[in-house]
Amino acid sequence: MLAASLILAALMGAPFSPRAVVPVTSAAVTASVQPAAFNPSAMARAHVAKITITPATAGTATTVIENQTGAIVETLGSAIPVVAATPIEYTWAGTGVADGVYGIHSTLTDAQGVVSETVVPVTVDTTAPGVSFGALRPALTKRGPVALRASTDDLSGAASIRVDVASQTDVPIGSADVAVGADGTSGATDWNLRLRKRLLLPGVYRLRATITDRAGNIGTSDARLLRVDRAVTTRIIYSLPDAGNVIALTFDDCGSNRDFQRIVSAFRAAKAQTTFFCNGVNVRDNTSADRAAIAAGNTIGSHTWLHPQMPTLPYGEQVSQIRGDVDAWWKVAKVSPAPFFRPPYGLHNATTLRAAGDAGFAWTVLWDVDPSDYLTPPPGELVQRVVSKARKGSIVVMHANANTAATVPQLIRAVRAQGLEPKSLDQMFGASAYLAPLGS
Ligand SMILES: [Zn+2]
Repeated sequence: MLAASLILAALMGAPFSPRAVVPVTSAAVTASVQPAAFNPSAMARAHVAKITITPATAGTATTVIENQTGAIVETLGSAIPVVAATPIEYTWAGTGVADGVYGIHSTLTDAQGVVSETVVPVTVDTTAPGVSFGALRPALTKRGPVALRASTDDLSGAASIRVDVASQTDVPIGSADVAVGADGTSGATDWNLRLRKRLLLPGVYRLRATITDRAGNIGTSDARLLRVDRAVTTRIIYSLPDAGNVIALTFDDCGSNRDFQRIVSAFRAAKAQTTFFCNGVNVRDNTSADRAAIAAGNTIGSHTWLHPQMPTLPYGEQVSQIRGDVDAWWKVAKVSPAPFFRPPYGLHNATTLRAAGDAGFAWTVLWDVDPSDYLTPPPGELVQRVVSKARKGSIVVMHANANTAATVPQLIRAVRAQGLEPKSLDQMFGASAYLAPLGS
């Protein structure tokens, strides 16, 4: 009933008010409650209300909890003798009552028989707040600001709202706090795209709003996609030696849907993730493997549209080769290869690096291990070439061809036996893949 009237009030645009219990104040007796909203079944958070009754004069005090119709749901103290200005304290566990607003009703009868009353509302709320996360405005931006808006019709109201930002593969990057309006129904913030003081790099991100209500219950929205696109300075990396006992087995080109799919399946079976640098033309043609790779949480990077020797092309064509791959991935799976770019054959000149940066790629990913898998060595030989060169944080360049695809399960076992766990670039970099250097 209460919830229905609150929803109705929200629909009508009336100010949110769970205060269906009318407060009563008195000079002779005061009551306070901490917290004013609580969840009796919560484990870690405040799960009882601490109630303090302070009489101004001596007499006897009766304190009860009433529901909204005035019926007593629990008696905390009956005709208790009290001394002036000496508080008495109760706790109320809210056991067995429905969610709602209750009244702490204290009655003081003094020596002359004069009766004084106070009523203070307290909210029992065991329900996670529903979270409505408004459309991002804009959903495609260079540097922000992006308007973040979230609302709830929660019984106790929002105490805090934050928006968690994750990569498209759900690597957590950071959170933006959203200012909550005084009535606790909504919050809005113009977010400047900074997380931990660093500006978010170009790419596609998943944003979710989380609301914690005043009783400590937590609700989270579905994800919304944010696209960031602007020119950056690209940096070449060959390996990530600080990443620990991990190795990035990466696969380029993706010319065959079957071989591409087979590698995706092999990593899924091994409970590991990898990275694909596919050409846009293959992304366009191999959509089932594309989607399987994304669904399994693998990282993708750009490898240009048609696999040209980039230094032979003028700037404008180099940019459009990279942009073509970006557009292909967005069309197929609403994802972006940014911030990872790998030029075909590793060939690059200053123009290539400028084109990659201008197209939004912060990392030009080369390698420190090349087993020449395109020459289709026998499986044992291919594995041996990798393990003999692999070290902590190595990046291994391979190709999504039939011979390599058939070797992947054996290769994963071999690097694990060497003490190196195969990881995607997202997993190896973590959040730092997505954040610009401080001050940029
Ligand atoms: Zn290639």
